[in-house]
Amino acid sequence: MNEEKIYTGGCLCGAVRFKARGEPVNSSHCHCDMCRRASGAPVVTFIGFPIEAVAWTKGGPKIYKSSSFATRGFCPDCGSQLTFQFDKRPERISFNVGCLDDPEMAHPTRHLYAQEAISWMKMEDGLPRYEDGSGGGS
Ligand SMILES: [Zn+2]
Ligand SMILES: [Zn+2]
Repeated sequence: MNEEKIYTGGCLCGAVRFKARGEPVNSSHCHCDMCRRASGAPVVTFIGFPIEAVAWTKGGPKIYKSSSFATRGFCPDCGSQLTFQFDKRPERISFNVGCLDDPEMAHPTRHLYAQEAISWMKMEDGLPRYEDGSGGGS
């Protein structure tokens, strides 16, 4: 049996809802200062999907051009951070896992921009830590 997984989630106020099906392409903790500012949290954990696996089931995010190479999506009503997307990789979209209805479904495998991590943010989970965003590939 190969039962397809369905990931659902949305923003704090419920105006924006999404669904993703199948296998995520990656899941990472990001310690970069842009994620920190965008979210207001010390670290952001993402889960990435092929764009064709994703559907907005209610509303849709407002898109913010957060750097010269990427955009972030958020709820226009409540401001919840929802997505991250590289301009050069439009075939993929990452969700902030805190927006998943069941964040336990994410299984992060790595830390990105680990050298920017806040010193008191201890995450000694044994996962590989990369200095930048390359994460050893995908
Ligand atoms: Zn909202
Ligand atoms: Zn980041």
